[in-house]
Amino acid sequence: MPIKNRFAELLPEITEWRRDLHAHPEIMYDLPRTAGFVASKLRAFGCDEVVEGIGRTGVVGVIKGRSDSSGKVIGLRADMDALPIHETTGLDYASETPGAMHACGHDGHTAMLLGAAKYLSETRNFDGTVVLIFQPAEEGGAGGLAMVEDGLMDRWGVQEVYGMHNAPGLPVGMFATRPGALMASSDEFEIVVTGKGGHAAEPHQAVDTTLAAAQVVVTLHSIVSRNVNPLQRVVLTVGTFTTDSSASNIIAHTATLRGTVRTLDPEARALMEARVRRVAEDTASAFGARAEVTWTAGYPVTVNDADAAAFATEVARAVSPMVEGEVPPIMPSEDFSYMLEARPGAYLFLGNGDSAQCHHPNYNFNDEAIPYGCSFFAEIVERRLSA
Ligand SMILES: [Zn+2]
Ligand SMILES: [Zn+2]
Repeated sequence: MPIKNRFAELLPEITEWRRDLHAHPEIMYDLPRTAGFVASKLRAFGCDEVVEGIGRTGVVGVIKGRSDSSGKVIGLRADMDALPIHETTGLDYASETPGAMHACGHDGHTAMLLGAAKYLSETRNFDGTVVLIFQPAEEGGAGGLAMVEDGLMDRWGVQEVYGMHNAPGLPVGMFATRPGALMASSDEFEIVVTGKGGHAAEPHQAVDTTLAAAQVVVTLHSIVSRNVNPLQRVVLTVGTFTTDSSASNIIAHTATLRGTVRTLDPEARALMEARVRRVAEDTASAFGARAEVTWTAGYPVTVNDADAAAFATEVARAVSPMVEGEVPPIMPSEDFSYMLEARPGAYLFLGNGDSAQCHHPNYNFNDEAIPYGCSFFAEIVERRLSA
């Protein structure tokens, strides 16, 4: 079965929503127009329940099927936020807000889930409940976590969740996913090394912080090669190294290192934090200096449940002839990971054709992908909650 005919009919209307959202991008949690747009559409479709303000500015819509003997509840998620980028596409529906742009296609994700909501409200050809999740602040604000912490999963009894992201470079209509880790975790660390500043000509009177911190950098790079299982993919990068010395004849008193760690495995992630702390503290100590490590946890690994990923792949095959069910993981991160930590589910990529990359000022979501995304969402409901 290819795309659902109803979505071919609805395409002009859904495209209009997408372009309206595109022209009016809003950032992080500050989404009054976007969240209002979503909520008013969901009400107009006749959703059984529409609640705003979940996870600060997220929106939840509930659609009940013709029957509820299954007691099953499926969550479908889209992100609504744009980016602080100045658009250069020159489109006639380009951003009307200088310095803000839908450069990651979340306008398309929102429009596709609205399209699925319209269809599911009309047809209700399923046995159970669908929870439509529209989240704020995917771009670095952990809006997905905010919604989970606000009780999203428990309040509506969500049992499994599905979401998708457009993928420039994949053909339109192509779906790609995999069981297990799909996208990386992203954590940051800051290490402040404190020695004893002094005169460059009298190092024996000082504790050379620069030398100690340099050894910390070298030793940190032993962790991935010597402590991590070689079959696991982990990246550690020290991005900055600054000291408080302002002259060549001064031994620095403090040095600050800042870096990032990416992993595809929650255990490797925990190991990295423990080893970074230990290596930094003990290496500095060997030089008579002291290291203080601040670890800032970012988005977790996006881990697809194996059964849910297999099911999503089967559903995608029903919608499109182009499906890759074992795509290699990628190292960017995604805050749908928090929802997948709370409930089993799967995340997919949907081809955006030969477009600019996400986060580029010339990027644009490809409206031809809309019927595929909508059909996937509708089909996953009708199959998982088959009436
Ligand atoms: Zn993005
Ligand atoms: Zn995105």
